[in-house]
Amino acid sequence: MPDGLLERPASALHQQLDGPTLIHLPGRHERPLVVSVLQHGNEITGWEAVRRLLKSHYQRDELPRSLIIFIGNPVAARQRLRRLDDQPDFNRCWPGGIETDSAYTSLFREIHDRLLEARPMAVIDVHNNTGLNPHYAAVNRIRSDYLRLASMFSSKVVYFTIPTGTLSHSMSEFCPSVTLECGQAGEVHGTDHSLAYIETCLHQESISLQPVDADAVHLFHMVATVNVNPDVLFGFGRVPADVAFRDALDEFNFTELPLGTSFGTVLNNELPPLIATDNEGRDITADYFDFSGGELLTTREIMPSMLTLDRRVIQQDCLCYLMERIHYEDNEEVTGIDPLPEGLHRSDIPD
Ligand SMILES: [Zn+2]
Repeated sequence: MPDGLLERPASALHQQLDGPTLIHLPGRHERPLVVSVLQHGNEITGWEAVRRLLKSHYQRDELPRSLIIFIGNPVAARQRLRRLDDQPDFNRCWPGGIETDSAYTSLFREIHDRLLEARPMAVIDVHNNTGLNPHYAAVNRIRSDYLRLASMFSSKVVYFTIPTGTLSHSMSEFCPSVTLECGQAGEVHGTDHSLAYIETCLHQESISLQPVDADAVHLFHMVATVNVNPDVLFGFGRVPADVAFRDALDEFNFTELPLGTSFGTVLNNELPPLIATDNEGRDITADYFDFSGGELLTTREIMPSMLTLDRRVIQQDCLCYLMERIHYEDNEEVTGIDPLPEGLHRSDIPD
């Protein structure tokens, strides 16, 4: 650990780190836990949790398990931004993604390979979001050990395969991986929660493959990504724009909405105000929304997540994701161990 680094808030890390950084800390169990923070520079909860954990508990004591800390984007953290305008989204640059900036994708490939060499027990990628969201975990694979790792953080678990190029997705072929959504950056209980979770994980001997109790995990999967049409002027509340979303739209997050729920008013109907795409990139807007009556109405039962009122996030990322519940007690995939792609050998790695 570089001297003095733990004293620095996310916005000051750039004084010692000029880009993506891996820090290896040895512990009693050799196989490391990987904790990734600040892939998005304004999402400081992960770094706050890591530095508090290390300062308070492990300044002198040995860690129960080796820890690899990945610090993603200290340069954007300096500006308190998700990313700089000339940077790609770091959590889309990992192997398996479609990002085309080869300087970054080859760097992230190298980091990925380093992580694999360390044979991690599990990978935890800590994020924040900007709307009102409960804390939840996301997995990219439905398997009991992955769900167990997720359920230790929250009973709300989201399964996603899009967007690609995320850290957790790229590591999911090799070891249990989760993305944590810890509410909004700067909330103390988000830091408390992720700190306690990382510490719990550090003390695990292994992540059990025993089936997870159905009550312990409410599993949802993403069926669509919703973007505001870039050619449409939008606002919130009573505003003169093509589409005026309702105030406090983010109160809908993680709420199962009946059909006919209004997202706002459509004042100019020439272009569709929203574009919903499925996981294969097909336009499925008409399956979920109706704009024809001057109102933006849902046309089937859905549960949004990551709804935000932050214009920059809406323009750089998306308005929200749409999710449906997976009734996985019927799904034998959950209790079984699905085969690994050829050439990968998670199961023959001794703990
Ligand atoms: Zn993030």
